[in-house]
Amino acid sequence: MIYLDHAATTPVPRAVADEMYAVLTEGFGNPSAQYPLGRDAHALVERCRATVAEALGCAPERFAFTSCGTEGDNWAIRLAARQGRHTGRHVITTATEHSAVLEPCRLLEQDGYEVTYLRPDRSGNITAEQVAQALREDTVLVSVMLVNNETGCVFPVREIADLMRARGTKALLHTDAVQGFLKVPFRADALGADLISVSGHKLGAPKGVGGLYLGERVRAPRPLLAGGGQEMGLRSGTEATAQLAGFARAVALRRASLDDDLAHMAQIKAYALERLLAIEGVERVGNGTAPHILAVSLVGYPSQNVVEELGAQGICISAGSACHRGQPSHVYKAMGLPKHTAAGVLRVSFGPATTEAEIDALAAALQAHRARRFPML
Ligand code: PLP
Repeated sequence: MIYLDHAATTPVPRAVADEMYAVLTEGFGNPSAQYPLGRDAHALVERCRATVAEALGCAPERFAFTSCGTEGDNWAIRLAARQGRHTGRHVITTATEHSAVLEPCRLLEQDGYEVTYLRPDRSGNITAEQVAQALREDTVLVSVMLVNNETGCVFPVREIADLMRARGTKALLHTDAVQGFLKVPFRADALGADLISVSGHKLGAPKGVGGLYLGERVRAPRPLLAGGGQEMGLRSGTEATAQLAGFARAVALRRASLDDDLAHMAQIKAYALERLLAIEGVERVGNGTAPHILAVSLVGYPSQNVVEELGAQGICISAGSACHRGQPSHVYKAMGLPKHTAAGVLRVSFGPATTEAEIDALAAALQAHRARRFPML
């Protein structure tokens, strides 16, 4: 199998799975239990928090584990809306966010909030200036992702934070960093965002674990889940110790070879771009600079067919976000791509072990698809 869909999810390295197995079978105590097995489990949770927080660039007490990136996004949006409830009911986000941000924003709209959706340019980018223009007295939240999952565009979160500080707004800044964590270097405590959500399964951890950074400007955060008081009282529920151990181990593994891995992915992306653009009818989509995501279009050839045909040959790529389940992507629509270009968009995403030979196989399969099929009219 040739796996070129690392933005959808990633394989779990053996060392991560082994660590999880040991926790599941030996260190399985409930972290709240008052005997050594429980105390060890509690210590493990705090070690995992310290490891992930350090990689994120924040103090451990500023980081709460969640079950996934979607949970962190939903929680962040709810927290900001609640904190700003006496300030106003206006939210700014982008039209290219993941549905984990867009759908909670729609729920806010149902509750009477007004949401401004910033539109990207043809290359998929948005600017801090757009946020500056949309910011109002009654804005309570700005939610702008760090790296777009479909184009690899890196959004100017630091600049947005600076302009929000300069304007003296009370609004909180949230960034969905699910595709940015350990891909685009940043420190949580220097980025300027108040809320940062991350997910484990995009970087070699199992599915079902993520986290949320809560900065100093997030005051008296309301618990997401009330109960036994786990996660600093913010998210009750017995800790998923094996998932947390897997997350921490995956983060440590990625950090150990981060510079080499990022350089390798950037080189593979450049190689893929060259090989794919050499195919007649292939165009680049957007100009994303994240090292692991490349979007192209086989113009006029419906991407769903390509993905299915290549999938049957053991080559895994995506027709956009895996979360769309075959629906046309709102991201490419928002970018204003011509119909035939939008219909043919393919997302190829890389991991530290992706090889040039795998890219060659992809290019050959695309070429063959094009030769066999007729384009849409
Ligand atoms: N945000 C972005 C940008 C994503 O790419 C994804 C997953 O594809 C998510 C949020 C959701 O993360 P999770 O699958 O951990 O819920």
